[in-house]
Amino acid sequence: MQDSFGRRVHALRISVTDRCNMRCSYCVSGDLLKLKPAGHLLSLDEIETVVRASMRLGFDSFRFTGGEPLVREGVLELIGRVAALEGVQRLSLSTNGSLLHKHLPALAAAGVRSLNISLDTLDPGRFRAITRGGELAPVLDGIEAAAADGRFRVKLNVVMLRGFNDDEIADLAALTLTRALSVRFIEYMPFGAWQRGEGIADVNPVISVDEARTRLRSNFPLDQDVGGPGGDGPATYVKICGARGFVGFISPVLAPFCERCNRLRLTADGEIKSCLLTDDRSRLRDWMRSPVFSFSELVSRIREAVVAKPEKHNYSRNFDMSTVGG
Ligand code: SAM
Repeated sequence: MQDSFGRRVHALRISVTDRCNMRCSYCVSGDLLKLKPAGHLLSLDEIETVVRASMRLGFDSFRFTGGEPLVREGVLELIGRVAALEGVQRLSLSTNGSLLHKHLPALAAAGVRSLNISLDTLDPGRFRAITRGGELAPVLDGIEAAAADGRFRVKLNVVMLRGFNDDEIADLAALTLTRALSVRFIEYMPFGAWQRGEGIADVNPVISVDEARTRLRSNFPLDQDVGGPGGDGPATYVKICGARGFVGFISPVLAPFCERCNRLRLTADGEIKSCLLTDDRSRLRDWMRSPVFSFSELVSRIREAVVAKPEKHNYSRNFDMSTVGG
């Protein structure tokens, strides 16, 4: 359906858990006590019900995220159930990649065709630091296996942070030379840790997409006239001349793409958000568990969330991405 600004909204980004086996300092607070009690998370049945209700409004594209979606018990079953619903066009997963290798066959069987994998550095020490203890090797294994598999569109997401990985832009982009995958450089969105002054950097860590593109151009000849790997996401793409994969740029901070936004978000505890950066939310969980719940009213509430989508986002917020699902 269309929102109040004529955008076709048809994608639902579903956070299946707020738990993650990594604690990336730009994404998640270090405070484990902030995790919601398990009973506060939507059940698999409840998530499927929200999906089915959204499909009545023309939603056809579903991304499973978190937290780390692969730590949620039953997530593969859920994805398979959603895949079986008539009218689903696209199923995607956002993952940190640590558990990917062993789940690839099941993900393919469940119907996932698009994988977004976070990879902010190729240096094991830096990886351990930014993820607060994560191991790089299994992530790289998962990436290699996914790219070689052939059934998935693989996109690596690099959040650029000044003073952390700005010297790795060329090395990360070089992964596209021989592999069938895209590497996408994303501007760090300065909320959460940065706003709380938790010192993820001494200076404002945002690196612009323009700066990344310029750095890349000084290392490689670029083919600008490329469509990209497909999909209707916010990235613009180039290719290193002769490379197998694409290099993408996503600029949520300095060149926001709100006019192309096509999504709603469902948080792990059952809130529908019209925009990543709004405080407005429709709280579904307790109502869905109450005797007054009705499916037709759920469809209406999702419709209201689409209508309520703001024209643009703003950054006057302080929350961790892990609580919403990036
Ligand atoms: N655990 C999964 C993962 O690692 O991709 C899914 C959840 S994570 C919240 C989804 C994406 O949000 C990741 O690619 C992460 O890098 C991105 N992200 C988190 N905080 C961000 C921020 N402040 N600015 C830009 N991207 C952010």
